[in-house]
Amino acid sequence: LVGSALEPDNPRAERITRLVAELGPRLAAARAVHEAELRAVRDPLTGLSNRRELERVMGVFREETMQQPEAASVVYVDLDRFKQLNDTLGHAAGDAALRHVATVLQVQLRDGDLVARIGGEEFAIWLPRATLKVAVEVAERVRAAVEGTAWYWNGTAYRLTTSCGIASFPESVNAVDNLPGAAEAALYRAKQAGRNRVEIATRAG
Ligand code: GH3
Ligand code: MG
Ligand code: MG
Repeated sequence: LVGSALEPDNPRAERITRLVAELGPRLAAARAVHEAELRAVRDPLTGLSNRRELERVMGVFREETMQQPEAASVVYVDLDRFKQLNDTLGHAAGDAALRHVATVLQVQLRDGDLVARIGGEEFAIWLPRATLKVAVEVAERVRAAVEGTAWYWNGTAYRLTTSCGIASFPESVNAVDNLPGAAEAALYRAKQAGRNRVEIATRAG
């Protein structure tokens, strides 16, 4: 296929023709399966993991650390005043802004961390083996990165901000399963406290 041209009556030409005829449809089928698998774990708008994939990965961690518990953290990240952006610039702008934020989040993370889009304009960062101290660093870095990375729409720069809720095992909760709920409660407090800030879930609530 990549070498010099073959004469039509060369037996190798015949073999290559058969190979392509047999392989072609199988490649297409394999690609279709691969794409279906990606759809099951990815958010189509941003290409990030979806909520189901986040839950699966957290479940695997829980099983693996059943005998010997290990630290883990979750950071919930929600765009501030996003409805206003949608209402003034339109839904296409909103979608573009979501993709922008997804990229900023992903750049901040290490291998082994996972960032998922879990709702309209809400993201979750899963930090296996990260202590509260590490999670606070990550969340603050993410918050500052979103604020500090202008998003451009029709040639105009906009400043987007996010609020973050952090929950860590074992500092905030008794079990890894309780991390999402605790992170969400902390996020709510970050909104209440004025937005563009990070709040930590404590056992006291
Ligand atoms: P807050 O600071 O309290 O988070 O305010 P908010 O406006 O971000 O929050 P609210 O939950 O009131 O509104 C979320 C808005 O996000 C609603 C909708 O306009 C927008 N939104 C949700 N999902 C999508 C999406 O997939 N694409 C676009 N373009 N907009 C979305
Ligand atoms: Mg919001
Ligand atoms: Mg929200």
